[in-house]
Amino acid sequence: MQRQQLLYKGKAKSVYETEDHDFLILHFRDDTSALDGKRIEQLARKGVVNNRFNAFIMQKLSEAGVETHFEKQLSADEVLVKRLDMIPVECVVRNFAAGSIVRRLGLEEGTALTPPTFELFYKDDALGDPMVNESISVALDWATDAQLEEMKVLSHKVNEILTALFDAGDLMLVDFKLEFGVFHDRIVLGDEFSPDGCRIWDKTTKKKLDKDRFRQSLGDVIEGYEEVAKRIGVPLD
Ligand code: ADP
Ligand code: UDP
Repeated sequence: MQRQQLLYKGKAKSVYETEDHDFLILHFRDDTSALDGKRIEQLARKGVVNNRFNAFIMQKLSEAGVETHFEKQLSADEVLVKRLDMIPVECVVRNFAAGSIVRRLGLEEGTALTPPTFELFYKDDALGDPMVNESISVALDWATDAQLEEMKVLSHKVNEILTALFDAGDLMLVDFKLEFGVFHDRIVLGDEFSPDGCRIWDKTTKKKLDKDRFRQSLGDVIEGYEEVAKRIGVPLD
């Protein structure tokens, strides 16, 4: 399959149509953004690392019974996916407090959240991705109650699968964001799973190895992603 019309240029990926209406090509660029797109930089190797990382995770999730949009890697920085009708709500699962929940509730970073929490955010950069809930999502026709329930169950299942995977590499899965969409009436996991959309810490030193290295200007951003990839067995070339 080959890229045809550019459908959408996002902050980190470009989305292309293909000759088959049911499939899209996602091109992972080197662009990195923070502050809802207000700060943008290019980081060498990021597109390739995130494409490889995402492919590895999506395949692990499929094997464990989570339906995903992943079809196949087309090149080092391109993936073929099912075209989903995206639900404009981001699902966030947290095992430990970091980021917005720390700011919102004045928690100490690293506080264990047991059982893991589940939050919804409306995907809208201009509004700063505000927190929403199920009733707002249903009233505004973003999703049905049944779809939201399925997204919650799937998010917790992804957490169980990936917590074990990262744990085996001496890593803590602190939190992560998922996006779902609808494909022929089924809820399917879309977008990407990479260190851009999750927090991963070294279990012993608590060193941050995810996008917080960029957000907090800690340096060695992609080196952090590569360290995680190496520890969980992602083939990077
Ligand atoms: P953003 O839109 O936040 O800037 P990206 O740069 O990652 O994010 O752009 C990728 C876009 O493609 C996102 O809006 C995402 O919701 C969308 N997307 C991801 N997977 C699919 C899919 N399988 N079908 C349709 N759209 C998708
Ligand atoms: N996240 C994301 N995209 C967003 C918002 C959050 O991928 O638009 C991820 C983020 O990387 C983290 C998790 O979701 O792993 C929870 O993010 P949080 O609510 O703490 O917001 P942040 O402080 O990261 O903006």
